[in-house]
Amino acid sequence: MKIKSYELFQVPPRWLFLKIETDEGIVGWGEPVIEGKAATVGAAVHELMEYLIGKDPLNIEDHWNVMYRGGFYRGGPILMSAIAGIDQALWDIKGKYYNAPVYELLGGKARESIKVYSWIGGDRPSDVGEAAKHVVEKGFTAVKMNGTEELQYVDSYEKIDAVVERIAAVREAVGPYVGIGIDFHGRVHKPMAKILAKELEVYRPMFIEEPVLPENNEALREIAHSTAIPIATGERMFSKWDFKKLLTDGYVDIIQPDLSHAGGITEGKKILSMAEAFDVAAAPHCPLGPIALASCLQVDATCHNAFIQEQSLGIHYNQGSDLLDYIVDNKVFKYEEGYVKIPDGPGLGIEINEEHVRNMASVGHNWRNPVWRHRDGSVAEW
Ligand SMILES: [Mg+2]
Repeated sequence: MKIKSYELFQVPPRWLFLKIETDEGIVGWGEPVIEGKAATVGAAVHELMEYLIGKDPLNIEDHWNVMYRGGFYRGGPILMSAIAGIDQALWDIKGKYYNAPVYELLGGKARESIKVYSWIGGDRPSDVGEAAKHVVEKGFTAVKMNGTEELQYVDSYEKIDAVVERIAAVREAVGPYVGIGIDFHGRVHKPMAKILAKELEVYRPMFIEEPVLPENNEALREIAHSTAIPIATGERMFSKWDFKKLLTDGYVDIIQPDLSHAGGITEGKKILSMAEAFDVAAAPHCPLGPIALASCLQVDATCHNAFIQEQSLGIHYNQGSDLLDYIVDNKVFKYEEGYVKIPDGPGLGIEINEEHVRNMASVGHNWRNPVWRHRDGSVAEW
């Protein structure tokens, strides 16, 4: 079997889909995208696919190594997202070729289903109490929300109080045992991260996420020493080498690689397994589309330390275009009592609605994240 051709589809709300076709008629789908740079990742996909046309799609490990090691310069969000989407599509082809779900080819299932969490509150976290109640009524047992808006290196306790008030409202709305993930979104700098973590501890969060930007991960040591709340990070880290120091330093509790950003299924499985050896849990990042989610679920199935999966159903970014619209059978992602069953169809376990993909690609998108500024005019982290 040989790779014959490929196509890219830039579809709303902010995604990029890749379809790879073989000379035997088997088709695989991947989602090579970094939010806000879809076209840039697309350009990298074109460059990488030059090598792959005419090759046997089943040799995934070798292709991964050529895509990664065959480039003198490597790593980073653009290249690793391009590799990720291609890798996902190749696994989809391989599964369909052997008529088996990808998890079977990775060693088989370690679980039947996985817990999922729902986003509440959007970019600017307000009215989250009501939103949390609504989500829990729908059956979710865990939620995630943005903790803060803009926050200066050293900011006022008024802002701290506002965060505390919102988390308190959510805790009150959902009761004592629903998991609350609080995403600091890299908006918080070290001086305030310590204060926030301490103040939020009483609400017993499931985790705090990206308490500082990944480029400041050395600050996790001090934050970890100032709180018992599990620390999660990793959505902006792109390979096993990026995770190496984080894991050996020992201050992270939950890693969150994104399987559309961190080299795909091949690399994601390895990153999760590395973390398992450090007794670190995994909660793959996935605010993206159905192919990215399906890829996560295949890896979650085989990794003992995966405990919860992010998913974008109803997320604030997806208004007017949700992930279920792009698949033929949306029961694949049916959540029951806060869990989703691992899809057991061949390949990634989903069937893409190609007609809808083509229609939406003609709409396209030019999604960019907002640029925020502080009161003094300086750029704020979004
Ligand atoms: Mg996050």
